[in-house]
Amino acid sequence: MTDCIFCKMVAGEIKPRVILENDQVLAFHDIHPRAPVHALVIPKVHIATLDDLPTDDPGLAHALFQAVKQVAALLGLSESGYRTVINCRGDSGQEVYHLHLHVLGGRKLGWPPG
Ligand code: AMP
Ligand code: ZN
Repeated sequence: MTDCIFCKMVAGEIKPRVILENDQVLAFHDIHPRAPVHALVIPKVHIATLDDLPTDDPGLAHALFQAVKQVAALLGLSESGYRTVINCRGDSGQEVYHLHLHVLGGRKLGWPPG
């Protein structure tokens, strides 16, 4: 999708601070971190929201969650713990309409979120 900032990252037109990349997934540091560690994991294909995740591609969800695990390990969160968040549309505060999984850690995280 041409006007999608995350698609532009996948296309190499915008350069995020990449943590990992494979054929299905890209992970990078969030530009406005909400915790000492704040990464985003995105599918390389444009999917607007979690509700738009294709029903015929279970491998994609698997790849996203495997990447979250890998990102957490690479960023030193495996022992201390971390939180994974997917905002979906209006009330969640989703700002970028390209599916992404937040990976937050490096401090004690409050619950419930505000
Ligand atoms: P959400 O509110 O769930 O849609 O989260 C979107 C996230 O994308 C926010 O945490 C932003 O800080 C992050 N973000 C927006 N633009 C960029 C960018 N150019 N590089 C890295 N992260 C970004
Ligand atoms: Zn996109």
